[in-house]
Amino acid sequence: MDAASVRKRIKELTELINRYNRFYYVENQPLVSDSEYDALLAELAALEKQYPQFRQPDSPTLRVGGEVLEGFQTVTHRVPMLSIDNTYSEEELTAFDRRVREQSGLESVEYVVELKIDGVAVSLIYQNGIFHSGATRGDGWHGDNITANLRTVKTLPLSIPFQEDLEVRGEIYLRKDDFEKLNQERLKNGEEPFANPRNAAAGSLKLLDSSIVARRNLHLFVYAGLLEKPPETHWRILDFLAELGFPVNPHRRKVQGIDRVIEICRDWEKRRFSLPYGIDGLVIKVNSLRWQEALGTTSKSPRWAVAFKFQAEQVTTTLEDVLIQVGRTGVLTPVAKLTPVQVSGTTVSRATLHNFDEIRRLGLKIGDRVFVEKGGEVIPKIVKAVVQTRTGKERDIEIPENCPVCSSRVVQDENGVALRCPNVACPAQVKERIIHFASRTAMDIEGLGESRVALLVDKGLLKDYGDIYSLKFEDIVNLEGLGEKSARNLLSAIEASKQRPLSRLIFALGIRHIGAHASELLARHFRTLENLARAAEEELSRISEIGPVMAASLRAFFANPTNQQVLKKLVAAGVNTEEEITSPEETPLQGKTFVITGTLSRYTREEVTRLITSLGGRVTDTVSRRTDYLVCGENPGSKLDRARALKVPVLTEPQLEEFLDQAQSK
Ligand code: NAD
Repeated sequence: MDAASVRKRIKELTELINRYNRFYYVENQPLVSDSEYDALLAELAALEKQYPQFRQPDSPTLRVGGEVLEGFQTVTHRVPMLSIDNTYSEEELTAFDRRVREQSGLESVEYVVELKIDGVAVSLIYQNGIFHSGATRGDGWHGDNITANLRTVKTLPLSIPFQEDLEVRGEIYLRKDDFEKLNQERLKNGEEPFANPRNAAAGSLKLLDSSIVARRNLHLFVYAGLLEKPPETHWRILDFLAELGFPVNPHRRKVQGIDRVIEICRDWEKRRFSLPYGIDGLVIKVNSLRWQEALGTTSKSPRWAVAFKFQAEQVTTTLEDVLIQVGRTGVLTPVAKLTPVQVSGTTVSRATLHNFDEIRRLGLKIGDRVFVEKGGEVIPKIVKAVVQTRTGKERDIEIPENCPVCSSRVVQDENGVALRCPNVACPAQVKERIIHFASRTAMDIEGLGESRVALLVDKGLLKDYGDIYSLKFEDIVNLEGLGEKSARNLLSAIEASKQRPLSRLIFALGIRHIGAHASELLARHFRTLENLARAAEEELSRISEIGPVMAASLRAFFANPTNQQVLKKLVAAGVNTEEEITSPEETPLQGKTFVITGTLSRYTREEVTRLITSLGGRVTDTVSRRTDYLVCGENPGSKLDRARALKVPVLTEPQLEEFLDQAQSK
């Protein structure tokens, strides 16, 4: 780049980032994701470093991003409230440690590692043991007096057993469940949702009516105390604040050397979604206050602290189109086609939109910039559209009147939310039903995956899953992608699937509302497919865990003449329709209840459920006092916290395997 272009780019970035700052800090409605913002800021900082002569006087690299607001009294901070430098990699952490060691002359530094709570910084002043006033960070030197709003925070102590003047700093945050509730409510009232809990907390604190703030259920963690006579270390301050009754985050750690710090960062990167509140990284602080003072601060941030930020779980991208998928029960699901973007280390180009109500609620248009989030879930979701940057070229998303595959007129589902293609012979539904039937967790027919099913349906060889068992070698050997060997393999996989247990067969039938667990229960109760097919609705709903909706769905399935024809094909082909009698010795987990959370590496949820139920155990959705074990995979949800609170034993994946092995060998 020549000097003129650099100068232009620096100016452009300065204006853009200052605009983003205003929307973020003043409106609490960011225009771009943090990762996009951070990348622009890093670009600007790098250019300014190389060409300091072009730095703009209002450069965002020189100051803390916020502003003081109208409507609140302005407070001057006794000690500036600064930002913290960000790092995104272990190398950058090591470089930070190197700088600290060089400047302090220490061989190894003692650090305190704290969670970086994704909320809003506040300063709290206590006089004579009484909460006197509180303020936002503002521009770092001046903040807004938000005392009335802070008084509504239940975890903020209004009095403390300490008579000297004290300033405490901490983070006001919103729990994830409260955030979801707040956004649902806002969407219902036609208000724009908040992009994340941090913006929601910031927006709440700046409300002028504290009775509304009180309803937001804000929480506090404190992480700094400015004492007249401080102890020697930051760690001691945190302990002291906890003794005084302040909420100090329990996950703080004191460690020697950067290697331990890195280990802790790696660990939390995996575990962060298990917390009931959001964290966007960890803050690493030099423990000794003497060294903190010696290292000093820049105009923007202290040199004795650094933030290790996690890979972005939220990004901004463009909604290019909305595609419509037809599932095996005919439900039309809109799927967002996105401009590919990196989220938590993977490229995302699709996001679920659940149903058309969701599109309406989010007010999405094709061409919108959207916030996309992965947040521990496997499938990313769209959180909100950025309405402020619309150009007028965005298009409305049309709700289909006809099935995109077979053109049948769509109908509203009985619950009024989903749209459904009513044509059971719709090729999309037929394919999906067969794919499900043959899938690994159902009849497990190797070689009969998505593309092959599509091919066989398109060639007219499969009209339903009953036809799978009459496929002949001559029919398939010349098909695209199949040769003699794979045709033979496919036929033997089909043959082998005839021996699957009854529970698998029931699950494979794809009856609405009947999942793997219900299929186990039904197989155990009825023992044969014939018995199940004959059962009346009342008998079905008497079975524990089979509700009226499931019972009605089962009845409707078996009463349908088309389905009866398909079932006849299965029976005629010799597919197993009976459950083996199991003796009590074969069900060592009888009476034991399990709950599963997180993602397991070697099993799907269905497989684990089947393993447990085949040994007589039960798998339920919610952790309660009656739960015997929680099976915990990667990125567990709030179930883990609940299990810990109720002291329910937790089994990791290897522990579960060992446990099941032992149960089987008893
Ligand atoms: P920051 O949020 O990255 O870090 C500093 C803050 O961390 C402190 O002020 C404090 O509030 C908080 N914190 C949480 N836990 C803490 C702990 N244990 N100890 C100390 N502090 C703790 O920095 P910032 O200056 O507040 O904000 C800058 C960040 O905000 C950027 O990196 C960017 O991600 C985001 N931002 C985004 C936009 C946008 O448009 N998306 C605009 C402006 C800023």
